[in-house]
This record gives sequence, structure tokens and C-alpha cells, in this order.
Amino acid sequence: MITLSSVLRRYTSEVAIGPVNLEIQQGGITALVGPNGAGKSTLLTMIGRLMGMDAGSITVAGLDVSKTPSKELAKTISILRQENHFVTRLTVRQLVGFGRFPHSGGRLTVEDERIISQAIDFLHLGELESRYLDELSGGQRQRAYVAMVLAQDTDYVLLDEPLNNLDMQHSVQMMQHLKRAATELGKTIVIVLHDINFAGHYADHICALKHGEVVALGTPEEIMVPETLSAIFNTPIDVIDGPRGLLACYF
Ligand code: ADP
Ligand code: MG
Repeated sequence: MITLSSVLRRYTSEVAIGPVNLEIQQGGITALVGPNGAGKSTLLTMIGRLMGMDAGSITVAGLDVSKTPSKELAKTISILRQENHFVTRLTVRQLVGFGRFPHSGGRLTVEDERIISQAIDFLHLGELESRYLDELSGGQRQRAYVAMVLAQDTDYVLLDEPLNNLDMQHSVQMMQHLKRAATELGKTIVIVLHDINFAGHYADHICALKHGEVVALGTPEEIMVPETLSAIFNTPIDVIDGPRGLLACYF
């Protein structure tokens, strides 16, 4: 379980995220949704201990993220940030290998290599594994970063807009893969999604943020309601009960 108690991050005198009180249950996919600037990335990076908070506390699987040594946390939580600024000239396989660092400390074992290959296969990067990151398309690079996070093999996986730059096929494949990781491997996945329809279809829980506050929390059926979605996103949204489930229509 992930527990946020009165978590506050103050950027400026006008902009503050929180205080947020939130419990994210163990297992399954929880989607964080909300308009630009709502505080999704801020919240995720604080859970992933990459950003400090000004007040409150966060625990992940009982570990206090501001007190537990980073090395220990890295075996429990992995995080993909919205912007990756890896400038080093690395191959896909080398990048994915970094995911094993908390376990191997730099010396990759046969078991590490197996997990790296598995993550590369999951993201269909086999043919690209020897390519340098700056020789890939944006979507291919995005998949390489997700493979690195999956190679870390943690119980809690935090992903900030991992579908950025991905085409429809790869978006669907990635969500199906994450769904399997949640149901078959029991992982707890918290994912920032831009497209409410992906959240509605694949998430077990949806948490909506607006102006730095949690404004809705529930199952997709509870959140995929015209009035609720329209209020979250500040624009008229209809919900259609289509052949593949509920679909938000916003144009
Ligand atoms: P989201 O991911 O939901 O789009 P963010 O968490 O990135 O939102 O940002 C939340 C708010 O905090 C926005 O208003 C943003 O402009 C502001 N913000 C983010 N980072 C900083 C920063 N380093 N300094 C000042 N304001 C920031
Ligand atoms: Mg963001």
C-alpha cells in the first residue's frame, strides 16, 4: 500500500500541491489523471522519493520514503519520470541494464542478464538492443526507458505518462503488458495517463487531481461519468457505453 498523509509541496506563494491524503491499495493499476499542471508529476516524484516534500509523509509498503535509504527503496519502488535527460551515449541494452543496478551494484550476474533480456523482449526491443539511444525514434526510446524500469523488478512501479510518443499499437501493448504485470506478478502500478480512455479501460482505480488536490477517486465505472469528467477536465465530456466499454468523448 502507498499512503500519503497531509503531503504538501510548495513551489511558490501561489502554487502549492496538497495537502494530499491518499491511500493507494496494493496490487492493480491506479491511474493518476487530471489537467496539465494539476500536480500529477509532483505527486508521483514525491512518492518515488525523487523530490522532497515540505510537509507530511509518504510510506510505500510500510517504508517511509524520506527516511529509508535510497538503495533499499530502489528494491521496492521504481519510477519513470515524465522527462528523461539521459545524454550519455548508451545502447538500449546498457540502459536497460541500469535497472539492475540496485540489485547487482554494477556487476551483472547471469540472472541479471536474463531479466534484462526479458524486459527487452516484453517491450519488443530485441532488434534494437545494440542501437544507441540517439539513434532511436521518440517512441522506441520511450519503450527503452520503460524496459529499464521493468528490469528493476520492484513491487511498486511508478510511470509518468509512459505512453508519450507511442503509436496506438505500442500504447495498447504497453498497457496490456502492465496489466499482466499487475495481475500475474502482483505488482502495484501507479501511472499518469493523459488519455482518460486508457485509464478507463485498463486501470483498476482512477485518482483525479486538479489544482493540486485529489478531486475524485474510484473505479473507472465511478469516474467515467459525464459530470465528473467534465468537472475534472474543465471541458464538456460525454460518456458512451460502447462495444468495448465506456468511452469518453470530448470533441
Ligand atoms: P502535472 O504533472 O499534473 O501536469 P506538475 O506536477 O508538473 O503537474 O506541476 C504542478 C504545478 O506545479 C504546475 O502549476 C507547475 O507549473 C508547477 N511547478 C512544477 N514544477 C515547478 C517548479 N520547479 N517550480 C515552480 N513551479 C513548478
Ligand atoms: Mg506531468
